[in-house]
Amino acid sequence: LEAKEEFTHKTLAMDVMRPRRNDPPLTVLTQDGLKVEDVETLINETTYSGFPVVVSRESQRLVGFVLKRDLVISIENARKRQDGIVSSSDIYFTEHIPPQPPSSPATLKLRKVMDLSPFTVTDHTAMEIVVDIFRKLGLRQCLVTHNGRLLGIITKKDILKHMAQVVNQDPDSILFN
Ligand code: ADP
Repeated sequence: LEAKEEFTHKTLAMDVMRPRRNDPPLTVLTQDGLKVEDVETLINETTYSGFPVVVSRESQRLVGFVLKRDLVISIENARKRQDGIVSSSDIYFTEHIPPQPPSSPATLKLRKVMDLSPFTVTDHTAMEIVVDIFRKLGLRQCLVTHNGRLLGIITKKDILKHMAQVVNQDPDSILFN
């Protein structure tokens, strides 16, 4: 019983992170290969406050984290300034931008609006530690990785919901679920 109690109380980052087991995958941006219209669609069709940026969908290697509001402002400004930014313009979060064919539309460089070192924990990190880090660093969100691959995200609200659940759970269900 003691071992079981210990086990069930030790919630890990993977138990709190989104997406949950049967949810659609995390909504991410790739550091290249996206057009202004792709990102605008994503902004309009999701309600998330931010998006992890990865090297590629295949690798799921984390590059950074970008807030939705910074994306919105950057794209709006670029379109308004009329510096050749159109729906089909390529967006780059990379440091270097490959040479463009002369006829292609202007590119939009967004590396500077990205947080290059978003806080990350592994999926096996105990939630106790995650909560402590959120408190001490005043985090809004934290990314979860496994073997260097991006797996999920935990927001401050996810933690608050999780803590409310733990408090409301009756002892029997904690011990025997
Ligand atoms: P909050 O948790 O404060 O409402 P968000 O609106 O950003 O913040 O996130 C809503 C929910 O979606 C949270 O449970 C969060 O873990 C999850 N989430 C946040 N960003 C993403 C994303 N890019 N892809 C998938 N899920 C996300």
